[in-house]
This record gives sequence, structure tokens and C-alpha cells, in this order.
Amino acid sequence: MTNSVSSKFPVNELCPILSIDLTALSHNYVALQKKSGNAKLATVVKADAYGLGIDNIVPVLKAAGCESFFVATANEAAALRAITNDSDIYIMNGLTCDGAELADKKLAPCLASAEEVARWITLCADRSSNLPAAIHIDTGFNRLGICPDDWPEIADQVKAGLFTPRLIMSHLACSEHKEHPKNRSQLEKFEAARQLFPDVTASLANSGGIFLGSDFHYNLIRAGIGLYGSVEFDTADAGLQNVLSLHVPILQIRDVKQGETVGYGCDFIAQRDSQVAILGIGYADGIFRHLGDLENKPASATVALEGQMLPLIGRISMDLTTIDVTDFNGKLEKGMMVELIGENIKLADVAKRANSISYEILTRLGTRYKRYYKQSDKP
Ligand SMILES: *Cc1c(COP(=O)(O)O)cnc(C)c1O
Repeated sequence: MTNSVSSKFPVNELCPILSIDLTALSHNYVALQKKSGNAKLATVVKADAYGLGIDNIVPVLKAAGCESFFVATANEAAALRAITNDSDIYIMNGLTCDGAELADKKLAPCLASAEEVARWITLCADRSSNLPAAIHIDTGFNRLGICPDDWPEIADQVKAGLFTPRLIMSHLACSEHKEHPKNRSQLEKFEAARQLFPDVTASLANSGGIFLGSDFHYNLIRAGIGLYGSVEFDTADAGLQNVLSLHVPILQIRDVKQGETVGYGCDFIAQRDSQVAILGIGYADGIFRHLGDLENKPASATVALEGQMLPLIGRISMDLTTIDVTDFNGKLEKGMMVELIGENIKLADVAKRANSISYEILTRLGTRYKRYYKQSDKP
């Protein structure tokens, strides 16, 4: 294995380490592509690749075969263009800026209303060019997307050759729930829209959509969370690997007598003479307070130290977190690294215990980590 550290710190102190396994990422791309049948696997790298860092993530996805990338905003798209000159780049939030700025960089907005389509048509006419853009169809999500009432007019504009969308897309509201009737309902509406835009490349599925079956695959998949190795839905047979690990140093180990309290609010009261380890991480680093003690709820999270599971105790503070190491079997030392997310502690489980979803955990991870990007020398 070769390691590369992405960020520079002036002082070399004990600090949490985020490891991102690029070989696992590449494996996951191939695994999801295999599950996607004939559809091409495009990837979603919005919010800096779900917090993992586009600079390191995107080249690996490209090498694995990805040709199209989706981001949320025009600024994300411009940053991505600086990394990849030859990929298709789609902006899912729509036409949020002057289209000329996008056209110059060959960035494709996902046009989300009749008004945005009209502005794009004007730009295409000005430049006498069919500039790349997608049309984003609303099939019942009621977030972004062109309403059914506006589909026929846009279909007429396309027929008249005013512009040709490169992609017709829509987004599923409940793809992680296989049995949810909304999936079928959105599929039917998407089919209806496609009748109006018959020869346009079509995209409906996100990661969850891949596992709804081939009806949902169409021509292009927009996969995000599945690649980054954490999913809350059933992907057992896909063989996805863990990408992200978070290890945190023990800053101090202390004895706490029975009856003493630990941390803010005195929520944790030692039921026995205990040993407590203080970890250098807190909610400022994206560790959700719901993982620790809260006024009416005891801490629910566990961590792993040398493969042994240990409970988190007390409230999570801004920069520090406490765990009970009384039952740890072995020698305890300052500087030992405790796993908060990784092979033993699954991101999806952390998310559940934090009353959140893995998407939110990933995108909240802060800036105080040392990041290691691991890659096998040979694939
Ligand atoms: C975020 C997003 C995706 C990716 O979804 P995952 O569940 O992470 O695979 C796809 N399409 C749209 C419109 C999105 O907003």
C-alpha cells in the first residue's frame, strides 16, 4: 500500500485520521457498474464527493471507467472542470447562473423548469450551437424538475430543433425502500415523459435505484452513496467495500470512581470504579451529539480499540469525546488510535445511532482531520 496525506498542518500533533481507501472506491465502481446491466454508471460527486475530496476521488472514478459526473452547483462544476477536461459534467441544481459561464466550460445544467429551458434555448440561438444540457423532469418528488404541464411545449421546442437535450433525468424519492409504491409511480411518469423525448439518453436511478431492478436502469445511472461504501439499503449481493475509516487518538486515560460523573451536564454517572479514555474529536468534527448522552437518552454508540468494542459515554463536546475503557483487555496508552468508523464500526450503523443518514455524516466531517488516501500499488 502507498499512502498520501492530502493536507498540511504546521504542528505535528495527535489528531484524528480519516483514511479513504481508493482501491475500495474503484472496486465499488466496478461492482455497481456490474449491477447496472447495460446502463452506464455516472457518478455523483456533489459536496466535494460527499466530503471525501474530489481531487482524489474523481481521478480514481475516471480510471475505473466513469465518463460523466454530476454535481449540485455551478461552482462545484467549475472546480470539477479544472480536474477533468474531457468528462461530461452535469449541474443538478439547474440554471443558477448566467448560462454563458457554463457554456464556455462545457458544463451542462439540468434544466429544471420551462423558464430555464427558454433561457437555454436563447443562449443556443445566440451561439448558433446546441450547447449541452439535461432536462430534469419532475415525476412526483416535487423538489426540482419540469412539471408535467410544461412537457409538451418543451417537446415541441425540441422537435423544432431549438435545442436537443443530451439527457432526460428524474430523481426517485424512495429508492432505498424497494417495496415503496412511489417507485413504480415515478417510473410510470418517467415513461410518459420519455414518450415525448424518445431518442434522448435517459437517467432515473441513483444508487438505490440500481437495486430496484433493470426497469429502473435506463441508459445512465447517477450513483453517489453506494460508491462511497455505505448504504442503508439491501446491497448484500453487490459486495461493496468499506471506503472510509475514522481513527481518533486517546489524549488521556483517567480513573473515575463509582458515583463520579463524566462530562457536561453530569449525564454519565459511573456505576463502578471505571477507566475512561478521552478522545480528541467532537461535534466540531462532525461527530453528532446524538451519539453521546443527551438529557433524556443514554449514549448509544460504540467504538473499537484493537478489535474490542467499547461504549461511548457522556455528552459529546465540541472537541472531545469520552469512552469507557474499563473492560478493555490489554495495555492502554495515550496516542492509541480508536476506530469510530471503519471495518468494525459501520458508517451506516453510526448514522442510525446518530439519528441521521450516512450522507449527512459524510458531508459533515470537518477540516481538522489528517486525511490519508490509500491505494494499492497493484489493482
Ligand atoms: C444526490 C443525488 C444523486 C445520488 O444519490 P445517491 O443516493 O447518493 O446515489 C442522484 N441524483 C440526484 C438528483 C441527486 O440529488
